[in-house]
Amino acid sequence: MRCPFCGTQDTKVVDSRLVSEGAQVRRRRTCNHCQERFTTFEVAELQMPKLIKSDGSREAFDDEKLRNGIIKAIEKRPVSIEAIETAITRIKEKMQATGERELHSRWTGEAVMEELRRLDQVAYVRFASVYRSFKDISEFREAIDHLESHTTPVIESPIKALSKKEDKS
Ligand SMILES: [Zn+2]
Repeated sequence: MRCPFCGTQDTKVVDSRLVSEGAQVRRRRTCNHCQERFTTFEVAELQMPKLIKSDGSREAFDDEKLRNGIIKAIEKRPVSIEAIETAITRIKEKMQATGERELHSRWTGEAVMEELRRLDQVAYVRFASVYRSFKDISEFREAIDHLESHTTPVIESPIKALSKKEDKS
């Protein structure tokens, strides 16, 4: 592996461990030439189903797009990067587990909501409101009711959490 700092090929692995519930290998490397340290991640390359968009067109699955959507919803919430990566891995595994070569993008959206609901209630409502593009407040209210009836134990009412100023961080 080439050193990203000085470009030499002379680097070595100093530490290696499993992350994201074993779906990734994280390696710490050091450069024998400039002594800089850097990290690499190893993941299995698996064929992801293509996404069918609402207009019927097909799109290749895009890791970054999924990650950005989740990160945006989770902004300023107490969720670790590792938890986000684990959620992404789980979504991808679910997609692969369907055995389908094509999936409706809606399917992925629902899978993301499922994960967010587990991670953070506020992030879930944020994502759901954008993804489902609620037409009015009653639809929004419905989503919250759904959330409240499906989440046990309730840590904090999402309504309260939403109405609180988000300047605590
Ligand atoms: Zn180097």
